Amino acid sequence: MIGKHMLMIPGPTPVPERVLLAMAKHPIGHRSPEYSEIQAEVTENLKWLHQTEQDVHILAASGTGAMEAGIINFLSPGDRVLCGCNGKFGDRWAEVCEAYGLSVERITAEWGKPLDTEQFRAKLEADTDKTIKAVILTHSETSTGVLNDLETINKHVKAHGALIIVDAVTSLGAVNLPVDELGLDVVASGSQKGYMLPPGLGLVVVSPKAWTAYETAKLPRYYFDLGKYRKATAKNSSPFTPPVNLVLGLQAALQMMREEGLENIFARHQRLTQATRAAVKALGLATFAPDECASTAVTAVAPTTVEAEQIRSTMKKRFDIALAGGQDHLKGKIFRIGHLGFVGDRDILTGISALEATLIELGGDSAQSGAGVEAAAKALNRH
Ligand SMILES: *Cc1c(COP(=O)(O)O)cnc(C)c1O
Repeated sequence: MIGKHMLMIPGPTPVPERVLLAMAKHPIGHRSPEYSEIQAEVTENLKWLHQTEQDVHILAASGTGAMEAGIINFLSPGDRVLCGCNGKFGDRWAEVCEAYGLSVERITAEWGKPLDTEQFRAKLEADTDKTIKAVILTHSETSTGVLNDLETINKHVKAHGALIIVDAVTSLGAVNLPVDELGLDVVASGSQKGYMLPPGLGLVVVSPKAWTAYETAKLPRYYFDLGKYRKATAKNSSPFTPPVNLVLGLQAALQMMREEGLENIFARHQRLTQATRAAVKALGLATFAPDECASTAVTAVAPTTVEAEQIRSTMKKRFDIALAGGQDHLKGKIFRIGHLGFVGDRDILTGISALEATLIELGGDSAQSGAGVEAAAKALNRH
């Protein structure tokens, strides 16, 4: 059947019709009063989503651009930074820092395990001369489905005084992330994940403390100079031509989020995660990340008797459902189910029953007919 594609990858995520229709409008001039009005509403709603008093800045970039902006605006060549590395994205931020000549110390954990908060504490406590300028980490590590313990790591960072720069690309909108209450200095996200939008926008919010660091930071910056965005956003404008139609989509998506409410959004993601994990286990497949640190955006699955790539290709061929594969050394070892953004109970039941049918077709010996759907349905009912 043609045209019934279903995205169950952790980005891009499904886009609601209301958002698609908003983006289908003819573009308007970005220096017009009409655009300013939209920008004002969007900024207000972004602040609500981030639970912050600070303006949230919109970049024409993917999530990586937002993170790069979050790093280069607040640091200087040779600055010592700690990077949490327990997956593809943590590694990426260490690479970005190295590309800009920062002095990077990686705090690593095995892929599939959370970062060890004690290692951060030890490094930060030992740094009595305060040479560590920033701690950089990925909240929800999309490559493995691990949610790192941001709160505890943040406490250690606060006791030290360094900046904390957070990749919240698959946690913002999926789990409670009160930016001001936690005192996070830089939080970056991207439109194609929790925002229910297509790819193309990077979003970044900056604390007053990070703006102070901005004044003396010496890394080169131009397009991603957040000072330019700060000035423009304050005037409901943008320093360069913004992706106008994506911003129209963002306006609609944020309206939908406000209608649903933050608590409901978080509860929905929690429910979908529990249903997915219960179903996967009932089907005799192993969840890659432990329950205690499960991301509410993506569940990584490590099948044993059937090959991950075979499952993915059968899901695609038979049901036109896209699942994500493993990255780097996890290629072929795991597959990943996205349940982030515009995803509801029905999507999980559909995805799980298709997975079950796939396992039956591929002859997974532990695939028990109906077990996955039953477990998912029960988990969905409990909430
Ligand atoms: C998707 C994602 C990003 C951003 O990737 P882009 O391809 O640049 O949008 C960054 N961090 C995490 C954790 C992600 O899931």
